[in-house]
Amino acid sequence: MPKQKAGCQTIGCRVASCAYNKSGCSCDLDQIEVQPRNGCHTGEPCDESLCGSYKSR
Ligand code: SF4
Repeated sequence: MPKQKAGCQTIGCRVASCAYNKSGCSCDLDQIEVQPRNGCHTGEPCDESLCGSYKSR
């Protein structure tokens, strides 16, 4: 994954179980990788847009 941050985006996130989550409302990483569930092509948001950078606390 490239290190450079594109633009001035910030990452809002409520996944409090992730090690990179800050106060239940944002992500501490400079960038994340959004990816679909492996082998899944349902078109459903819960399958097609998972955070691939997630790391359990
Ligand atoms: S890595 Fe993904 S799941 Fe974890 S805090 Fe950042 S955006 Fe949220």
